[in-house]
Amino acid sequence: MSAKPVKKILIVGGGTAGWMTAAYLARWLEKVDIQVTLIESELIGTIGVGEATVPGIHQFIKDLGIKESEFIRATNATFKLGIEFENWAGIDKTFFHPFAGYGVPIEDRPFYKTWWAANKQGYTEGLDKFCLCTQLAHAGKFALPSFDEKSRLAWYNYAYHFDASLFAKFLRGYAEQRNVKRIEGKINHVQLDADTGFIQSVAMDSGQVVESDLFVDCTGMPALLIGKALGVGYEDWSHWLPCDSALAVQTTSVADPDSYTRSSARTAGWQWHIPLQHRVGNGYVYSSQFISHDHARDELLNNLTGERVTDPKLIRFTTGMRNNFWTKNCVAIGLSSGFLEPLESTSISLIQTGIAKMTGFLVNFEIDEKHVAEANRLNRLEYERIRDFIILHYKLNGRSNPFWQHVRAMTIPATLEEKMAVFRDSGDIKILEQESFQADSWVSMFYGFGQAPSVLAASTDTEKIHTIMQKMKSAIGKGAQLAPSHAEFIQTVGTT
Ligand SMILES: Cc1cc2nc3c(=O)[nH]c(=O)nc-3n(C[C@H](O)[C@H](O)[C@H](O)COP(=O)(O)OP(=O)(O)OC[C@H]3O[C@@H](n4cnc5c(N)ncnc54)[C@H](O)[C@@H]3O)c2cc1C
Repeated sequence: MSAKPVKKILIVGGGTAGWMTAAYLARWLEKVDIQVTLIESELIGTIGVGEATVPGIHQFIKDLGIKESEFIRATNATFKLGIEFENWAGIDKTFFHPFAGYGVPIEDRPFYKTWWAANKQGYTEGLDKFCLCTQLAHAGKFALPSFDEKSRLAWYNYAYHFDASLFAKFLRGYAEQRNVKRIEGKINHVQLDADTGFIQSVAMDSGQVVESDLFVDCTGMPALLIGKALGVGYEDWSHWLPCDSALAVQTTSVADPDSYTRSSARTAGWQWHIPLQHRVGNGYVYSSQFISHDHARDELLNNLTGERVTDPKLIRFTTGMRNNFWTKNCVAIGLSSGFLEPLESTSISLIQTGIAKMTGFLVNFEIDEKHVAEANRLNRLEYERIRDFIILHYKLNGRSNPFWQHVRAMTIPATLEEKMAVFRDSGDIKILEQESFQADSWVSMFYGFGQAPSVLAASTDTEKIHTIMQKMKSAIGKGAQLAPSHAEFIQTVGTT
């Protein structure tokens, strides 16, 4: 098949995925003669959740040329330094997954290995004490990182929590100002070319027919184009990730916002707490095989702080991914391409990388099979790596309810099995192609769940090592003391 030129792009769907794609394309195509159109149906609406992110979101905002302060104000955003996992490792046990590493290497050895070797010999100070990002979060503080070579302890990253509907509105304004055309209405038919199987056009309830060269399916879980019209199958991963439901509810804030997301383990899943400037997003992700919807609802409502401002909304899902996210002239971005539960806030990041793959492999604005195949290969790897990282949280849990026993006992993908074995045997972290979570993140999980490498050579000069560690710890403690509170920091951003 010869490469097909693209002169028109139609995005179907106006949720987070649709408007992120529209905004990005508007900027990317500023000087190119390609018309971008978006169709969305207010009647159908959007999923309306998805408010915690990972640090890659900075790049998206930067690529659009938007000032951070403008973005924070427009979306009522707060800063996020990582995720606190409450009761996952066992009752009353808490650990933190920071957007950062621990300490700085000593004698060319990763700090965490030095720490584990010292810990095996009785060193009692926790690994967390060597992470400024974690210490800031625990103290309710926030400061921008410094990437100065002299301040390596201040090398950390951060992301945001934001209001999903304000985010989509903000991006819509951005895209429409840059010539993205929006059409309101419901699509009821997708017309395929009888010879090529490519999508030719979509037909709407109003009778309007819209043709295009490239179609971006942002219709969410129904996957109207890639799934229903083109018949691309969905790979179900619920045998590894059995949560299949979520109840989402918003509450008023009763305290200054934390600079992190909280994930609290519950009877048959976990509850999220996402603090925004003006309210808190909460939800319970659970397995309906192990708890009824009514009991899950009661458990969620009994564990809220603040007044409810919405009724709990039930969302059903199947964890997994579309066999190919790009087929013929259709690219699936967002929930139409797959879903991994929001434990590590990865869906918006997958939207972003999906857009990057689509634009990166649309070489010379043409659809070429070999580029499409490579985009699909990379997309699959990226999904599988994140899947493994999420499964790890369940596999290592230290809880006793039936759900938790079940996920601890389940067989896991061979790729994850191997990573766990490598860590156990050597303390090394095996990083594969398209890995979203780097070594520091895996270390924080192994540490948080009380795992340790079986053998690690101890330092010959213990005293010297302890002195260096002591200095690092006290520098981090001072750094955390000097930082402003998270609430103060947000206020300053609001005035810049
Ligand atoms: C419980 C839960 C919690 C989550 N939390 C997070 C999180 O903390 N962080 C994170 O990164 N992600 C999170 N996500 C994922 C995140 O919500 C989604 O990735 C994001 O909202 C993108 O959704 P979407 O745009 O693909 O779909 P949707 O929001 O469902 O949008 C679909 C769009 O398609 C349109 N549409 C559908 N059918 C038609 C039709 N026939 N005609 C016209 N238009 C149509 C709809 O009107 C809508 O505009 C979470 C998801 C769930 C389920």
